[in-house]
Amino acid sequence: MTTIPKPAGPITWPDGKKAAAAFTFDVDGESPLLTADPKFAKLMGLMSHQAYGPLVGVPRILDLLRDTGVRSSFFVPGYIALRYPDQVKQIVADGHEIGHHGHLHEQLPGVSREEEQGFLDRGFEALRKVAGVEPKGYRAPLWESNWHTPEMLGNAGFLYDSSLMDADVPYELAYGTEGKSIVELPINWILDDWNQYAFIPGFSGSGLVETPRKAVELFRSEFDAQREEGSFFVLTCHPFLSGRPGRAAELKKFIEYVKSCDDVWLAPMEEIAAHVRAQNLEPRTLTEPDPSL
Ligand code: ZN
Repeated sequence: MTTIPKPAGPITWPDGKKAAAAFTFDVDGESPLLTADPKFAKLMGLMSHQAYGPLVGVPRILDLLRDTGVRSSFFVPGYIALRYPDQVKQIVADGHEIGHHGHLHEQLPGVSREEEQGFLDRGFEALRKVAGVEPKGYRAPLWESNWHTPEMLGNAGFLYDSSLMDADVPYELAYGTEGKSIVELPINWILDDWNQYAFIPGFSGSGLVETPRKAVELFRSEFDAQREEGSFFVLTCHPFLSGRPGRAAELKKFIEYVKSCDDVWLAPMEEIAAHVRAQNLEPRTLTEPDPSL
């Protein structure tokens, strides 16, 4: 019987802060659709809906981050960096972090190590070429990984991953047999604008599009509770969704609120991960369940 791992323990934050928070943006653009079915490329309307993210959403979000004085983390598929180089260069010029998000947002379940390594290599190459960056963080497309993924990420030199959901706090995720680990900055479906706003006929979404005020009310209730508990709040937004005017306006108010909380450390993901790494936490494991037992 596989043993159930212990939960991740509490963490201390710098400068006497009680909790931490990060705002993250996954610049998916057309890539999740193209990887699911290349035929989507033929649909001009659908492609225009996705292109809105890099073309309009990213500049609007950069403006609101500039206005609020908040630095953030953008996870960019390599393909999107190559297709929209000016927008991705502007993200870097504004002082934000660029993270790895696959090349064409490839889904990982069932993929061999060799294929998965190819996605990593192509993503790295594109981000280096376009943005001149060497990403320290990785976020799996659709937040789904293989059990071998953490080891591959560690071997590729990543400091952190942000794709798992088994904790409210960051931790060191053990991989391999030599005591190595990668920092995990956990996310969850509650704090994802996709579930509030996505309506992509024939691909994703229930057809129920939430109002920005209600979506942010949900995000804020999680933030307030996590602040109280001293954990780490990570919001994931997609520029093609949250970059629309009404949603961006509500997001801006929420960012201003989080920033006004003096006991919360608001920082890009790589700074949070570096802080976690410096604490020398004991790595914990996550084990694959055996359904036959
Ligand atoms: Zn994505």
